[in-house]
Amino acid sequence: MVNIDEAEANHLSAHLGQNRAEFDAKYVSKGESGRMVINAIPCHFLVENSCSVYSHRFAGCKEFPAFHVPDFNKRLFTTFMHYDRCPIIFNVIETLKKDISFDYKNFQ
Ligand code: SF4
Repeated sequence: MVNIDEAEANHLSAHLGQNRAEFDAKYVSKGESGRMVINAIPCHFLVENSCSVYSHRFAGCKEFPAFHVPDFNKRLFTTFMHYDRCPIIFNVIETLKKDISFDYKNFQ
């Protein structure tokens, strides 16, 4: 799930030529805490393995995997949950595996 804020929703809805009510109805859910998230996995804007709104994508997308945010290990479950659905997550994980010379044979 991609978290978004009001400014990002306003920005992308304007880019898509939609008013906020349309945008929210199509793409946004609110969690129990009131945080807004994109309401589909994979994301609505993933088209043919690419982000169709790349230059307007959300901060969470730009920052992924957000190593500057503490407790990356606590986000691993959701990261791997979407590993085979999102090419950005897949590519980041595969790059990290190369960077640390990960060899799955060491874990059998
Ligand atoms: S980067 Fe991925 S999750 Fe973010 S808006 Fe684009 S397709 Fe959606």
